[in-house]
Amino acid sequence: MIRINNNYNRLPGNYLFSEISKQVNEYQTKNPDTSIIRLGIGDVTKPLIPSVIKGLHDAVDEMAEASSFKGYGPEQGYAFLRELIATHDYSKRDVTIGEDEIFVSTGAKEDTANFQELFATDIKIAVPDPVYPVYVDSNVMAGRSGDYLNGRYANFVYLECNQENDYLPDLPKEPVDLIYLCFPNNPTGQTATREELKKWVEYARSNKALILYDSAYEAFIQDPSIPKTIFEIDGAREVAVEFRSLSKTAGFTGTRLSYTVIPKELVIWDETGKAYELNKLWNRRQTTKFNGTAYLIQKGAASIFSDAGKQEVQALIEYYLGNAKIIKEGLDALGISSTGGLNSPYIWLKTPKGLSSWDFFHKLLNEAQVVGTPGSGFGKCGEGYFRLSAFGERANVEEAIKRITNLSL
Ligand SMILES: *Cc1c(COP(=O)(O)O)cnc(C)c1O
Repeated sequence: MIRINNNYNRLPGNYLFSEISKQVNEYQTKNPDTSIIRLGIGDVTKPLIPSVIKGLHDAVDEMAEASSFKGYGPEQGYAFLRELIATHDYSKRDVTIGEDEIFVSTGAKEDTANFQELFATDIKIAVPDPVYPVYVDSNVMAGRSGDYLNGRYANFVYLECNQENDYLPDLPKEPVDLIYLCFPNNPTGQTATREELKKWVEYARSNKALILYDSAYEAFIQDPSIPKTIFEIDGAREVAVEFRSLSKTAGFTGTRLSYTVIPKELVIWDETGKAYELNKLWNRRQTTKFNGTAYLIQKGAASIFSDAGKQEVQALIEYYLGNAKIIKEGLDALGISSTGGLNSPYIWLKTPKGLSSWDFFHKLLNEAQVVGTPGSGFGKCGEGYFRLSAFGERANVEEAIKRITNLSL
């Protein structure tokens, strides 16, 4: 008899975004004449930039000729792309990252979900609350969670983020082995200062812990004092893995390209205290389970590092940040307190009059036909909060804010 991995039975039933889309579809069916504005799911709306399109076209032509056709590529990604990443994302910020420390992949979702398989099942994990659900669910599937009770898994340490601590979690009170951090944060939009990251790097160094640093939104950081990479912090090379993605940077959510940076200094240990290089372990994993990202996509991705590509990416980011500013200012004018939206495409607001996240969702849907994301879907600490995304079209964002402003809140 073929039996289920029982850990899957510990996962919460409905995935947040399926529930939202179910409710939105029901509303649309009952109210066919209304126009719904979606500021919910974190997907981009702008097309790929011209430089990327050119890179993709050129690569298609190469694939048509026997002399330039490409079959299987290196599992770690082509050298031309890894060199560009090392130079433009790191050297230019005075951070040294070797090409062989970069692993090109198809998505930060995949890599942040898969990375945990390198670690023992009984390690202690710390996750932010609210959180990008992938970190939690992938560890549940792997059997690290224990039972689910009152919105919490017994074995996880939750790093609470709320208005009181300005959405910047305190260090855990009990020792942990693996820490997930994400800045600029999804869902709160909060960013971390150098001091803040230093606190975590020092904690990890003194506890032989590892930080998995999700940097999917680094392109939105415009304030030069905010670190763009955790490797700007001294000592981070010994304790952090960084995940980056072109999904939000360059509209690659449907095109798929990301990279994971694993410094050679990183080691993890077995029960006898013997050390193992993490870079080698991930390489072993990738060469077994992954056959590389498509050549076409890597060529398209390389184009974002050209001068024209960089300008086009910056224009794209500025467009979304312009939307974020409109949302943020609209909320400010209504006296609704919020964070994010400055160096991040997300605005995390405290629901007015103490409404629950889902009550506020229904109010916006029914009375303004605006869809956002209930904060409670990201964890217990998200209750009473709500996420609006700046990834929409400008005209829709303006209309959404107008409609929210006209509500009696
Ligand atoms: C969107 C997002 C990603 C990117 O995932 P991809 O698989 O690269 O599209 C990663 N982490 C967070 C927190 C995100 O919101």
